[in-house]
Amino acid sequence: MNNTYSLVIHGGAGTLVKGLMTTALETKYKKALQAALDAGTKVLENRGTALDAVEAAVVMLEDSPLFNAGKGAVFTHTGTHEMDAAIMDGKNLEAGGVSLITGIKNPISFSRDIMENSDHVFLAGEGAMQFAEKQGYVLEDPSYFYDEVRYQQWQNIKDSDTFELDHSVKKDGKFGTVGAVALDVHGNIAAATSTGGMTNKKWGRVGDSPMIGAGTYANNKTCAVSCTGSGEFFIRGVVAYDVSCLMEYKGLSLEEAAKEVIQNRIRKIGGDGGLIAVDAKGNMTMPFNTEGMYRAFKKSTGETEVAIYK
Ligand code: ASP
Repeated sequence: MNNTYSLVIHGGAGTLVKGLMTTALETKYKKALQAALDAGTKVLENRGTALDAVEAAVVMLEDSPLFNAGKGAVFTHTGTHEMDAAIMDGKNLEAGGVSLITGIKNPISFSRDIMENSDHVFLAGEGAMQFAEKQGYVLEDPSYFYDEVRYQQWQNIKDSDTFELDHSVKKDGKFGTVGAVALDVHGNIAAATSTGGMTNKKWGRVGDSPMIGAGTYANNKTCAVSCTGSGEFFIRGVVAYDVSCLMEYKGLSLEEAAKEVIQNRIRKIGGDGGLIAVDAKGNMTMPFNTEGMYRAFKKSTGETEVAIYK
C-alpha cells in the first residue's frame, strides 16, 4: 500500500468545433467535469477504493444533462432513451455490464449491482429491467431524461435511416459518453463507462461502452480503460483490451499502448474517438484522434487539469 492515487474522467470525444463553443458553455462543461473529478477524488483521498471512485465520478456525470449518459441521454428512433453502462474491478477482474435499459437514473450503479448481486456479467433489455425491479430500483419518468438539445438532434434525423454519433464537427452543443478510470492507494485500478449511445439508434443497437474489453476494461496487471467514440469500430477493434494486451504481451508502456490503438489501429479501420487509461504504477494517459475530448484528471501529487481541446 502506498499513498499514490490518480483519477481520470471523460465526457466524450468529439466536441464542438472551437469557433462554435461559447465561453459560457465551455465554463459549464469545465464546471461539470470538475464536480465529477472532485466527487471521485474525495473517495480516493479518504483511502476509498478505485471502484467506488469511478462510480462516484460517473454518477455525477450521469446526473448532468450536458453529457450523453443518464440525464440528457440521446433519443432512440422511437423517442425513448436506451442506456448502456459497464464497470470493472482490476483487482479481481469482476465486471458488470448492462444495455438497453430505460428509466434508471444511474446506469453505472446498476451495472455494479449486476456485478455484485447477480450471478452474471451482462444483462440487457427487458430481463435487465426485471432484475432492476428485484433490486428495488424506482424508475424515473421519461421527462427526467429529457433535454431540449438532444431532442432537436433527434428531430433532425428521426425520419431518416441515419443514426448519429453524438460527436464531431456538429453545430449542436451536446456530446458525450462518460467514463472514469482510477488507481487507489491500495494499488487497485478500476474502470467505468456510461452512455445513451447514438441518436436515432434502432433495432436494439448496442455500442462498445458496456462491452467488457471493447469500451471498458480493468486489470491490475496492465491498465484500466474507458473509451469513447464510434462504437461499432471500437467493438471491432476490441479497443480497451487491445491496450491491455499490448502492455501484457508486447511490453509496451501505458502511453505507448494507448497511443498505438487510438492513433494507429482504430484509425486504420475508420474509427474516431479516444480513451482514458491508468495503470497500477500511477501512470495515466488520455489520447484522442478527434478535435477534442472532454476530460480531466487529478493525481495525489496535486497535478490536475480540466481540458476540452488539444
Ligand atoms: N461509444 C459510444 C457508443 O458508440 C458513443 C460515445 O462514445 O459517445 O455508443
